Amino acid sequence: MNLLIMGRPGAGKGTQAFNIRDYYKIPHISTGDMFREAIKNETKLGLLAKSYMDKGLLVPDEVTIGIVKERLSQADCKKGFLLDGFPRTIAQAEALDVILNENGVKLDAVLDINVQPEILIRRMVGRRVCKSCGATYHVEFNAPKVQGICDICGSELIQRKDDTEETGRNRLAVYDSNTAPLLEYYKNQNILKTVNGDQPLEKVFDDIKVVLGA
Ligand code: ADP
Ligand code: AMP
Repeated sequence: MNLLIMGRPGAGKGTQAFNIRDYYKIPHISTGDMFREAIKNETKLGLLAKSYMDKGLLVPDEVTIGIVKERLSQADCKKGFLLDGFPRTIAQAEALDVILNENGVKLDAVLDINVQPEILIRRMVGRRVCKSCGATYHVEFNAPKVQGICDICGSELIQRKDDTEETGRNRLAVYDSNTAPLLEYYKNQNILKTVNGDQPLEKVFDDIKVVLGA
């Protein structure tokens, strides 16, 4: 199964991607996670990405397309994959079509986790992420059993630097101008599946399984 998960920042893509990855046994490819890893390792890519991410802006297309192309060529993607946070612009979507074509595969479905903007700042500001395994929590909506500690691996939970109210608002504006047009792009390809993301986490995943035909 070759999947793409879309939605506004904070809609629940990463959270549901963990469920989908485990249920369908496909690798989860998050460009945001790849950039955060590069920042942690202080690579040249990390340094570049950080200058955009800290402001809530998009990392330039050519850089982002390059890392996804490289990642999709790896052996584990032969059994399928779940893209999360890529593509975010029409140019990235067109480049993805070319890459998939070269690899002889296509997207089976594009999931749009739909949440109205009002709730999203609260979701982003309260988000906490495991610094080791990447699992996502929320201080109010999805709290860990022990505060500040990951239920899955026991590592420390951290707050993303871009999860502030100000940067969150910028990211929502960038989504509206650059990423929202992709919904039409995939609707025209007849592969867009919209799921209501303004429901409890488990219900969102149940709906995802239904639209994907379980
Ligand atoms: P995205 O990857 O789309 O930016 P996340 O999956 O990281 O979003 O979710 C953003 C925040 O909202 C996290 O703190 C997460 O725990 C919380 N969250 C995700 N889905 C829901 C939901 N259905 N209801 C309430 N909170 C949610
Ligand atoms: P995310 O983890 O998906 O919320 O992404 C966090 C940040 O990483 C975004 O605000 C961008 O700065 C950057 N980023 C992630 N994916 C992309 C992409 N496909 N294109 C450009 N920038 C991206």
